[in-house]
Amino acid sequence: MRFDSRMILLGMVGLAAGLVWGLFEPRPTRLAFLAVGQGDCAVFQNEGTTLLIDAAPANEEWDAGERLAVPELRRLGVDRVDLALLTHPDSDHIGGLAGIARAFPVGAIGIPRRFAERPEIAKLKDEVGAPRLIPLSDGDRIEIGGFQLEVAVSEALPEDNAGSLMLRIRGGACSAVLTGDAPIDAEGLAERRFGGTPVQVLKAGHHGSRSSTGERLLRAMRPNWVVFSVGRNNPYGHPSQETLRRVEAAGARVWRTDRQGSAVFEASPSGFRPSGD
Ligand SMILES: [Zn+2]
Repeated sequence: MRFDSRMILLGMVGLAAGLVWGLFEPRPTRLAFLAVGQGDCAVFQNEGTTLLIDAAPANEEWDAGERLAVPELRRLGVDRVDLALLTHPDSDHIGGLAGIARAFPVGAIGIPRRFAERPEIAKLKDEVGAPRLIPLSDGDRIEIGGFQLEVAVSEALPEDNAGSLMLRIRGGACSAVLTGDAPIDAEGLAERRFGGTPVQVLKAGHHGSRSSTGERLLRAMRPNWVVFSVGRNNPYGHPSQETLRRVEAAGARVWRTDRQGSAVFEASPSGFRPSGD
């Protein structure tokens, strides 16, 4: 794994082992959106390296990281997390990381620079025992084998959701975009940065709220699938009918984690495809 802009080396041993292992027994390259209730937790696996993008919700009563994400990660063959990327510091995105870290070692935490100094992030780093905290900036790139993760972070808007880490995962014909909880006015950056090349998978922003996943983003991404990471009967009414209609009008298929469970996509020569397709 390699950070392009600052050349921070991460998990190279794991990567080299993965490459050698890959010669004998190729492991699938996967992008999965785990059913963790009302929150986010996605995992990208490639050549023996595992990345989390957000870490499931948790509060004092319920820890979806421990209860839901860990069993799902085990099912996907995860035994360590090389890098946990946190889109922004809301508890429905970071709350479950400590529970996940009790099950698997976590190599590093990556978070947009503007959140890196927050006390809750320092506390989380201690709880998780992650050796490294990596502040991420707009334009950073992370390389994992033949895949590239490109970071877009809107620096202009003050709210935490608007500062969400937005990410494109791309390798060969595979392409997916995740925008955290970014609202429509922050999506412009993702449109400019990632637009033009169709993606197979777009994660609906902010759990499908009506103020995310705008028409312009859908036009720029032309996704085959839009994944909604939502809890059953959540009190916010996510996903909104308005957003579902926008997605359907854009010709994309809908995957809802509250109804269909975890969405697992595997890399193929023609791009990410639902597992088992
Ligand atoms: Zn959220």
